[in-house]
Amino acid sequence: MRVLICGVRGSTPAPGVEFARYGGHTSCIAIAHDDGPPRLVLDAGTGIRRLTGLLDGAPFQGTILLTHLHWDHLQGLPFFAAADQPGARVTLAVPAQTSAAWGDGAERTVAKMMSPPHFPIDPAGLNGDWCFVDLDEGPHRIEDLSVLALEIPHKGGRTFGYRISDGVSTIAYVPDHSPIAFGDGPDGLGTVHPAIRALVEDVDVLFHDAQHVRDEFAQLRGFGHATVEYAVDLATACDVRRLLLFHHSPGRTDLEIDAIVSAQRTGGAPQIGAAVETRTIDLRR
Ligand SMILES: [Zn+2]
Ligand SMILES: [Zn+2]
Repeated sequence: MRVLICGVRGSTPAPGVEFARYGGHTSCIAIAHDDGPPRLVLDAGTGIRRLTGLLDGAPFQGTILLTHLHWDHLQGLPFFAAADQPGARVTLAVPAQTSAAWGDGAERTVAKMMSPPHFPIDPAGLNGDWCFVDLDEGPHRIEDLSVLALEIPHKGGRTFGYRISDGVSTIAYVPDHSPIAFGDGPDGLGTVHPAIRALVEDVDVLFHDAQHVRDEFAQLRGFGHATVEYAVDLATACDVRRLLLFHHSPGRTDLEIDAIVSAQRTGGAPQIGAAVETRTIDLRR
């Protein structure tokens, strides 16, 4: 399979020359089988706008899987032009919200952000054939891919991480993760709890929350995110082959991300890098 990286930022877009190299769009990656267009999209941050240009004018036909419903994972949805046109066939799946305060069905949950007076139209106003699904935890078969969905601690609304395989290669996608929810762990940055281990153990590529760094974590630990150092320790403990730091803080400049990556690189396993908008990870063998 191929993974197209469309948006790598957390929290809010980061336009500006100092962010241009890693990219300013919020979270979105798209997965294609060895040949053919992307069929499975993870998150609908503003980066999803890029996908229209990668479809050569064709309407999108596939599934959009959200990790959760925060703005930076949903705000691009009504601007995904390839999915808002005749001929589009879209399944939008969101984690089933277990609290009545958080949601009452996928379409109505999305409409809490996307409807007047916050936005001109509600989800029913999108063109094409749309289907809204509440997703439960566990194994699923989606767009001819194996998808494991497990609940991950974050903040404010139910959040899933995903493990995805085409039978040849496997990736894990955990953009928002607060591992201190299950305890501080040995260095105060959080624990390797059973759900995160099940998602990331032995994957080829892990996209993981790297919003903070250790030195700032004491002030920011209540925001619901992980540190770069936690992500590296997790990847090492779980035999991940390649870690791509993801969900970069919107204030983190290109030069700062360069420095973070070079400080973490060991030359051994896992291979460590930072996710870059517009890159494609080719896992065809
Ligand atoms: Zn986020
Ligand atoms: Zn979030």
